[in-house]
Amino acid sequence: MDKSKDIATPSRTAEIIKTYGLSMKKSLGQNFLIEPNILTRIVDVANINENSCVIEVGPGIGALTERLARVAKQVIAFEIDDYLIPVLHDTLHDYSNVTIIHQDILKAPLEQIVAEMSSDVPLSVVANLPYYITTPIIMRFVESQLPIDTFVMMMQKEVAERMTAKPKTKAYGSLTIAIQYYMHATIAFIVPKTVFSPQPNVDSAILKLERREKPLVYVANEDFFFELVKASFVQRRKTLWNNLQHHYGKSEHIKEWLAKGLAQADILPTIRGEALAIEQFAKLANALWTLKEHSKSAI
Ligand code: SAM
Repeated sequence: MDKSKDIATPSRTAEIIKTYGLSMKKSLGQNFLIEPNILTRIVDVANINENSCVIEVGPGIGALTERLARVAKQVIAFEIDDYLIPVLHDTLHDYSNVTIIHQDILKAPLEQIVAEMSSDVPLSVVANLPYYITTPIIMRFVESQLPIDTFVMMMQKEVAERMTAKPKTKAYGSLTIAIQYYMHATIAFIVPKTVFSPQPNVDSAILKLERREKPLVYVANEDFFFELVKASFVQRRKTLWNNLQHHYGKSEHIKEWLAKGLAQADILPTIRGEALAIEQFAKLANALWTLKEHSKSAI
């Protein structure tokens, strides 16, 4: 095999697939990148340099991994597919700074693995994600205690749009708020279907997330805040009042609590959740939380 050529070219990818008799698994979201320019742009957006330690999810046959390994200090790549492990050991044989971890990213003890493997260099996540589990993977990292500053990830365009959405748009929802609470989110560029083998049915986008020094808004109780946000979007066409009553209950006592909280936060009960900015959700959650804490009877 000619290892001087990039893996991410149609000919080299086809050659690797043929040599190992691989068949792509749709169930594992296997769409491999075959356009080297896209990889150059991904590595640029991620600002990877000789001090970087990069975590990659789903290296596939190593297309992105080899590009990362050429510039980073260290690459830790998690791949679930048994059949790809020997392939990766071969295609990435020349890169001593790459460690392949044969584990499901959602089940792996990430904190422990990273603590054992990386010294205190800046940590980044760079990945062409398996699209069927994009959100759980991102939330696993975002909510972890890992010192990750930057995420650069390829995903379905629509998911990237939801994570970067503004209020009063169709894409805005609880996922937007869950991400933007912790991270500054931007779409770096859009990627056409044609740069993958096999081609997916949807267009993709490169999303960049940079961790905020502190969460975007102050909330008195995070679990309560996220529960309120989720409840507000359960039925998007219904008013905030209807969604909150549906979630918290319809007794007089609850109605009074909700009405007081909304009034204190200066929010009309008749608006829809999608009209509320994250700051307004925080104000409402904090008002309701304080009333709940001071209430003598259980809410
Ligand atoms: N990085 C390669 C590229 O850009 O060409 C492949 C990307 S492909 C979209 C997604 C990869 O994630 C596949 O190799 C797939 O086997 C792997 N994968 C799927 N589910 C996974 C999981 N739960 N944990 C780790 N890897 C997973």
